[in-house]
Amino acid sequence: MTLAKERTLASKVRADFPILQQEVHGKPLVYLDNAATSQKPKAVLDALLNYYQQDNANVHRGVHTLSSRATDAYEGARDKVAAFINAAHREEIVYTRNATEAINLVAYSWAMSTLQRGDEIILTVMEHHGNLLPWQFVAQKTGALLKFVELTETQEFDLEHYQSLMSDKTKLVSVVHASNTLGCINPVEEIVAIAHRYGAKVLIDACQSVPHTAIDVQAIDCDWLVASGHKMCAPTGIGFLYGKRDLLRAMPPFLGGGEMIADVFLDHSTYADLPHRFEAGTPAIGEAIALGAAVDYLTAIGMDKIHAYEQELTAYLFQQLNQIPEVQIYGPQPNAQVNNRVALASFTTGTVHPHDLSTILDQAGIAIRAGHHCTQPLHRHIGAQSTARASVYFYNTQEEIDAFIVALKEAIEFFGSIFG
Ligand SMILES: *Cc1c(COP(=O)(O)O)cnc(C)c1O
Repeated sequence: MTLAKERTLASKVRADFPILQQEVHGKPLVYLDNAATSQKPKAVLDALLNYYQQDNANVHRGVHTLSSRATDAYEGARDKVAAFINAAHREEIVYTRNATEAINLVAYSWAMSTLQRGDEIILTVMEHHGNLLPWQFVAQKTGALLKFVELTETQEFDLEHYQSLMSDKTKLVSVVHASNTLGCINPVEEIVAIAHRYGAKVLIDACQSVPHTAIDVQAIDCDWLVASGHKMCAPTGIGFLYGKRDLLRAMPPFLGGGEMIADVFLDHSTYADLPHRFEAGTPAIGEAIALGAAVDYLTAIGMDKIHAYEQELTAYLFQQLNQIPEVQIYGPQPNAQVNNRVALASFTTGTVHPHDLSTILDQAGIAIRAGHHCTQPLHRHIGAQSTARASVYFYNTQEEIDAFIVALKEAIEFFGSIFG
């Protein structure tokens, strides 16, 4: 299989990413660590710089020109995010620092005040630590019980096991949409429909799906959904919580302070309406505006195009990795018929430790990740101490995958010749 070079999406967009035009250790940079964070196009960097050079002022409080410009841009970005995931109302988008903070917001605000001893929270064994630790806190504080959906033989979400865990004790289901380690895409619409039959709420961790595929929160019908800006071409320090309006309205505040109030007295206060009730203190204004620019950038390319191109790249990546006998890939093989995985491959090679592999590949200018990728329980579950992970985004090329495969084969041969 070959992707005709002049027609690939990457060839059209690569020039938009200044950071990709560099050499590392004398070799062209091949950045394959996109599941940890994505690179940022010039349009996003410009939005951040322009805000600080032209419009910098605090939002909501001022009537002067700069403040109203900053407020308009900050709130305008919220409209863009809302449209991007097809939220029904703009006030259903709450800015947070990242997905982790968004999950903690739901844990501290909703779960701590709602759950009781004996209630059950359903997670999966593949959750990122960001969607595990907050629920451990909730369980310790409220006496609620955590239960974990296991994997099928192909290392995907086990729908049957999930159904067997559900009961009228189930109050919350919090699951990852696309696993950052296994790459599998979970059947979130079915998961939500089943949970709602039991009256349980559902939170979707969409960190690895929002950057790569069109998301429609109304179609999924989830109660909350979280994502981080930095994995979708935006800066660090900005992410968002989507929540259904009535549910968010009924939730108590998480952090208290300025921006989130209506009237303040010395002994009590009333709170602002959505979404500001959950945005205490001066927010990451420039970063939020840059998130809006990232959404514009992705939308202009088209999420369907991004998704289709990444599916091709994933098929190619797997085809190449599958030809190396030492390589064991975790998670399901890609299946073009069913949209079953995102564009990453976590693997081990038997002889070469993932950390050594990552160090050797770095010498060839190739950036891949090694470790447990914030999914330590999952690694225990699949019997791997750590894995190496190559993760691609729409600006990666087939040639970069070729360079990665060549360097990977050399590393395996080298270590095989020493220890073999
Ligand atoms: C990256 C990631 C998170 C955490 O994102 P932060 O930006 O670190 O808050 C959570 N879940 C998944 C699946 C991720 O990939």
